[in-house]
Amino acid sequence: MFDGFLTFRPSCEVCGQDFSGFNSGDGPAFFVMSIVGIVVVGLALWMEITYEPAIWIHAVVAGTLSIGLSLAIIRPLKGVLAALQFANKAEQGRFR
Ligand SMILES: [Zn+2]
Repeated sequence: MFDGFLTFRPSCEVCGQDFSGFNSGDGPAFFVMSIVGIVVVGLALWMEITYEPAIWIHAVVAGTLSIGLSLAIIRPLKGVLAALQFANKAEQGRFR
C-alpha cells in the first residue's frame, strides 16, 4: 500500500481500494514518539542503574535506538492507522 517509505499509493494494486482519503496526519509520529520514548528512557535508566556506563555510551545507545526504532516502526504504524481509518469509516469533515 506504500509508494516510497511513507507515501500511500493512490489505490490498492490488488483490489483497487482508493487510498486517497487516508490521512493519518501526526498519528503515527505520536505513537512512535510515545513508544520509542518509553523504551529508550526505560533502557537508559536500566543501563545506568545496572552498569553505570560513561555518558557517551548512553548517547550512542540512546541515539542509535531512537533513530533505528523510529524508522523501524513508523511504517507499520502508519499502515495500522490507515487500516483503522478504513475499518471505522473515518473521513474528513463528515459526521454520521
Ligand atoms: Zn487491496
